[in-house]
Amino acid sequence: MISRKMSYLAKNGSAIRAMFEEGKEMAAKFGKENVYDFSLGNPNTPAPEIIRETAIRLLNESDPVFLHGYMSNVGYENVRDSIAADLNRRFGTAYDRKHLIMTVGAAGAMNVALKTVLDAGDEVVIQAPYFGEYNNYISNFEGVPVVISPREEDFSLNLSEMEQKIGPKTKALILNSPNNPTGVIYPEKDIIALADLLRQKQNQYGHAIYLISDEPYREIVFGDYEVPHLPDYYENTFVGYSYSKSLSLPGERIGYLLISPKMEDLDETVGAAAVANRILGFVNAPSLFQQVVACCADQTSDMGVYIRNREILYRELTAYGYQIVEPKGAFYMFPKCPIPDDKAFCQAAKKYRILIVPGSTFMGPGYFRLAFCVSEKTVLDSLEGFRLLAHEYGMN
Ligand code: PLP
Repeated sequence: MISRKMSYLAKNGSAIRAMFEEGKEMAAKFGKENVYDFSLGNPNTPAPEIIRETAIRLLNESDPVFLHGYMSNVGYENVRDSIAADLNRRFGTAYDRKHLIMTVGAAGAMNVALKTVLDAGDEVVIQAPYFGEYNNYISNFEGVPVVISPREEDFSLNLSEMEQKIGPKTKALILNSPNNPTGVIYPEKDIIALADLLRQKQNQYGHAIYLISDEPYREIVFGDYEVPHLPDYYENTFVGYSYSKSLSLPGERIGYLLISPKMEDLDETVGAAAVANRILGFVNAPSLFQQVVACCADQTSDMGVYIRNREILYRELTAYGYQIVEPKGAFYMFPKCPIPDDKAFCQAAKKYRILIVPGSTFMGPGYFRLAFCVSEKTVLDSLEGFRLLAHEYGMN
């Protein structure tokens, strides 16, 4: 008999993944071009050509024992040097290899950070709506998620509720900006207020409260918005980063965990995170793609398609009557459903061969998430369906 916990999780699996599978079935039935699949954050824009060239060059020119071998659990030294230099150039920081652990994507980074800091029963505060996998990551280490209710007018940080809910058992707070599923970027003034609150709570309870910043969308920003670099604002900060979205490499599983140089007990924390990376079974991040991203740390995929898709969808959907907080980053929007039952609404959308994910998957019931990392043609072809769906619910 398998574990009760896994049995439960397998039966209540990811709604996003289920929808992704359903999308494939619908594509087989109706033709791929007639299904408008906005379910998964799988970038449609290809990785820049330099990624392929670099991978081929490395395969042709490197010593295979070096390129495919084990290395230190935290990753190759030259890779961490190169990423530290890139971060220092961009953020005026003074990181070195010691502050970086190469990880299996942002998911790996988040699991390593949580394993490093959590004891059973410790609480992790999260602003809703949020990426539902955090619940699983926290439960991997017997932590307890503490959900902060959304501020629906703009999905900004609900600092007054955080003030009430951060207590003696709080060990960490997860922040994700630009945000999945809302596209919100938390502005500097809110980050300063949050850092002050966390410092005050650390003093009150006499132990560290870690800020774990999940930043796979840091490079995907529309317009002139700044994404504050959180270690500049708060000492006990981990940053989980990933090349899945910025370089369209989600299948390659490559990212890093950055540990603030001002972290309490820095050496012990870095050492523990390295062990966490090993014993979670990752051992180390994929070797070839560590070397690839080290050569391309300052590159990104072409974001043009996301900019256009966002513009078209925001303009047209609001015209059809959908209420949407305009996304500032990432490639998601989180419109309000015209009925409270978001699952029923997403079910109804399938009639128009539109696949969208219920907000309750993100602890944001009454909304739906639209991942617009699809082709512009998919967006344009889907519009009539969105219009008819809105009409069906009396929105226009
Ligand atoms: N965090 C957030 C907010 C995400 O949206 C995702 C993936 O969609 C991840 C983490 C996982 O990223 P990765 O594929 O790099 O592990």
